[in-house]
Amino acid sequence: MHQLYIGGAYVPAASGATYESINPATAQPWATFAAAGKEDVDAAVAAARAAHESGVWRNLPPAERGAILNRVGDLLVERQDEIVLAEVQDAGGTFRKGNIADIPASMQTFQYFGELIANAELSRTDEEFVPVMSRNVVKHEPIGVVAAIVPWNFPLAASSWKIAPALAAGCTMVLKPSPYTPASALLLAEICTEAGVPAGVLNVLTGPDAELGAALVAHPDVDKVAFTGSTKVGKLVMSNAADTVKSCTLELGGKSANIILPDANLDIAAMGAAWGSFFHSGQVCQSGTRVLVHSDQRDEFVEKLVAVAARITVGDPMDPMSTMGPLISKQQLNTVERYVAIGREEGARTVCGGKRPEGLGDGFYYEPTIFVDVTNDMVIAREEIFGPVLCVMTYSSEEEAIAIANDSPYGLAAAVWSSDVEHAEAVADKLEAGTVWINDYHLLNPKYPFGGYKQSGNGRELGPEGLRAYQVTKHIHVGQPAEDPMEKHYFMILVDL
Ligand code: NAD
Repeated sequence: MHQLYIGGAYVPAASGATYESINPATAQPWATFAAAGKEDVDAAVAAARAAHESGVWRNLPPAERGAILNRVGDLLVERQDEIVLAEVQDAGGTFRKGNIADIPASMQTFQYFGELIANAELSRTDEEFVPVMSRNVVKHEPIGVVAAIVPWNFPLAASSWKIAPALAAGCTMVLKPSPYTPASALLLAEICTEAGVPAGVLNVLTGPDAELGAALVAHPDVDKVAFTGSTKVGKLVMSNAADTVKSCTLELGGKSANIILPDANLDIAAMGAAWGSFFHSGQVCQSGTRVLVHSDQRDEFVEKLVAVAARITVGDPMDPMSTMGPLISKQQLNTVERYVAIGREEGARTVCGGKRPEGLGDGFYYEPTIFVDVTNDMVIAREEIFGPVLCVMTYSSEEEAIAIANDSPYGLAAAVWSSDVEHAEAVADKLEAGTVWINDYHLLNPKYPFGGYKQSGNGRELGPEGLRAYQVTKHIHVGQPAEDPMEKHYFMILVDL
């Protein structure tokens, strides 16, 4: 049984409650976890608050914090097999994804923030004469206790995106993984302790109770909320944080456009469109599920796209030959089935997929699905499906492609495929999205900020912007001591001197 991680030690939930995490590939429980409640929220926040107040972490020289984060990156690689095994059973991502994407991305995130904080300019000083002679110090201090709440699609990477910058900044935190995927958060906490992060700095609460996240967001001793999840829950988080005026970083949903310009190599673009939509069964916030192709090229492009989809091997995520695993849960499978039915009712047509694959037992598998005859006003083009469902839409001019791409409540990402990269950059400038790829998709580097326009979120993770999200800025005005009130001439606004 896996326990909660509070104050540097494993502890059971105060109530003694437990729950089981289901392996999406088998639909069977694979491990038992503690089910935290309100009392555990209080204990974890108290541990993080005490560690913050003690200064044990924030007063360490930044270079020392950086070295510890660097070590976390090394340990992630040392324990790669164990982490990937846990993550695959918990989240259903493939063995390939775990080894090629999740571990390197998480390792790089810790090492990037380790390096960044070791060299960061955390304060600057200016001499000024306006409005009076003064020395001015501007400091970027750790914001305090962070509640980090993450979803189930990239449990390890999403947790790393929060832990690394928060710890780099000198914050302490309580991490709440998704109820579906608690395993890797606990392993990360263990690794952080092994690397030298002091007790109480990183605490982890597992549990299925929807109130857990809400209690953390509302907690008066939490200074900041870093949330990744759906736009629906993100709105709740924002309103629940209002009462205590907490800073919130929100990484939310998406419905990203993937524009194939007429001069693109259609073979590569078809592969790029499939990669952009079907990676991790489409359970990726930035998935490029609205594929825009010129109407004259639609048929040729769709033929190529269907051929790429046929090369995807849906199967047991533990099998290194599988390239697409199951969806996370029965509920998510039902959601995808419901959207496919809606798409058909709306008049769109599936040219492949549109059903569960045969012969894969009770796992939550779904075939890569391609819709054509989609228009941007359809539900399947407007709402995030979060499954392997790609919508092909057509345009007749570049202006129209850009207008369709921007006609969405979301603005997380977009892509442009073209043989003329300068021209593609000009198109990228017109897209309302936080990340725009040209001739690539899904590729991220922790050096560069990630986040949404519009209802895809607030604030940025990664990059120097991602560090700032965990800092609060203080200005210290150092005035001259005086003997005579006349030296403080501005007093005369209030009293005659
Ligand atoms: P979700 O919004 O249902 O849950 C996210 C997390 O919030 C979970 O840990 C959940 O337990 C917790 N939660 C639930 N109710 C809460 C409340 N009232 N207050 C605080 N926390 C609460 O999302 P999900 O289904 O786990 O994940 C899929 C969603 O995440 C998709 O919409 C996807 O686009 C989004 N996502 C966004 C990004 C990004 O970077 N923008 C990355 C990954 C996933």
